[in-house]
Amino acid sequence: MKVLLVEDEAKISDFVCAGLREQGFAVEHCANGTEGFERAGRGGYDAIVLDIMLPGRDGLSVLKGLRKAGIETPVILLTARNELEDRIEGLSLGADDYLAKPFFVEELIARLHALARRVSGERQNMLAVGNLRLDRISREVTWFDQTVDLTGREFNLIEYLMRSPGRVFTRTQILEHVWGYDFDPSTNVVDVCIQRIRKKIASIAAEATSPIESVRGVGYRFRKLDAGSA
Ligand code: CA
Repeated sequence: MKVLLVEDEAKISDFVCAGLREQGFAVEHCANGTEGFERAGRGGYDAIVLDIMLPGRDGLSVLKGLRKAGIETPVILLTARNELEDRIEGLSLGADDYLAKPFFVEELIARLHALARRVSGERQNMLAVGNLRLDRISREVTWFDQTVDLTGREFNLIEYLMRSPGRVFTRTQILEHVWGYDFDPSTNVVDVCIQRIRKKIASIAAEATSPIESVRGVGYRFRKLDAGSA
């Protein structure tokens, strides 16, 4: 786990760096908010430990700037005991957690591990292929950041295809998994359902290639897309 520590007090940064490295974390440290913002903006960190009172840009401004730029790296804020308002503001700006000084490095490590578990849990609940995102918990699907209004069946179908982008599924497989039929009812329910999904997706971004592809004589597959190609 790679952590960026942005903290200007040498005493704190020394013990945090040493403590985290001892536990197998990779740590980069900088003592200035402006530099912290630049480094965090380049990405590649699993978490950022961010002090609030910093030379250059203060921690809340760094956090606000990162979230505004779409950088969602988890952030733990370090706050002084009397900075309750800052803590509240920090959480509303998108901080994931905060730790009041003084603290034990073990406490920070526990918070970082909890954060990592939460993030990996959320990742499993989120499927994203190109510009299509699917949230298994809220059962929401978005295409180019706009909600696609799907029925339960349509959601289940898209989820089934999306779990294995590039893999072709036959109508029989789809019927079995999405409708629970273990026989072919000789209807075109699958095709009709796919058409409805495509229509809903196209109504959001008509010019974009549909993420669901027909494979003649076989069935359907979800296109392998990266964020740039859709
Ligand atoms: Ca400070």
